[in-house]
Amino acid sequence: MTDSPAPGVLWIVATPIGNLGDLSTRAATVLAEADVIAAEDTRHTKRLLDHLGIHTRTLSLHEHNEEARAVPLIERLRGGASIALVSDAGTPLISDPGYRLVAAVREAGLTVQTVPGPSAVVAALSISGLPTDRFVFEGFLPAKPGARRKRLAELVSEPRTLVCYESSHRITRCVADLGAVFGQRPVTLARELTKRYEQSVTCPAAELAEWLNADANRVRGEFVLVIGGASENTDATGNGPSLDQLLAALVPELGTKKAAKLAARLTDTPKKQAYAKAVSLSAGHAAPDNG
Ligand code: SAM
Repeated sequence: MTDSPAPGVLWIVATPIGNLGDLSTRAATVLAEADVIAAEDTRHTKRLLDHLGIHTRTLSLHEHNEEARAVPLIERLRGGASIALVSDAGTPLISDPGYRLVAAVREAGLTVQTVPGPSAVVAALSISGLPTDRFVFEGFLPAKPGARRKRLAELVSEPRTLVCYESSHRITRCVADLGAVFGQRPVTLARELTKRYEQSVTCPAAELAEWLNADANRVRGEFVLVIGGASENTDATGNGPSLDQLLAALVPELGTKKAAKLAARLTDTPKKQAYAKAVSLSAGHAAPDNG
């Protein structure tokens, strides 16, 4: 009886987001030595492999065949094959296929290893000048205007820096929505990162549309939007004092009910929410009871 071969490894390999010089030597080695490369678009990946002089066989793995592909790929891993997964650009699984495969491979008790490298989310965040200690990656916002605005409204109180991807088809409308929701809060728009026409700008959300529309070239290419998180010191649009600040000033003067009514109006907050906050704040104040 022969021993079965040691199980192989699924390698998650990051590739450049524009500049081919960003492919690591380790990534090139893993791609060259893999038995097969699972690629989002095999023709796209072949161009990268040709550039590198790599002849490893490729097979397609995209959103629509990922689940079906997982079973035979797991069999191959069990048989000792080394399989690399790449997407068209950047890190696989980051707004790209691969999640189902990785989950299935891990579920099967097999090994997944990383060859880290470029990803537009981290690249944009690192040059944004906005806080990087905590951030939320939202991927692509919903394509439909109503759903997009709803999502942005849900995010308006998020204190961590927000990062979103956007395509050239929707950048103009998306930036208009950002302006309406985030007002004076800072936004960095980064486009064409690592490419010839790389550009980034930081300004209040409400001014970004003007910057974008000032030059027809600015709406071309690939975009990342980095949005400063909600501050405790201003309202959600960055324009005025926050609900907490207003209540802290008004409750001792007016009492909970009047203060809540006024602060709700000024910060566009539901009255009930402002009142609950005022009551909790007033616990710490000797406020007049204007019941
Ligand atoms: N997996 C990729 C990564 O790790 O960044 C993201 C793939 S997602 C399908 C493509 C989106 O990523 C683009 O629409 C854009 O929002 C962003 N993106 C990718 N490359 C970029 C670049 N060079 N500059 C700016 N944004 C980029």
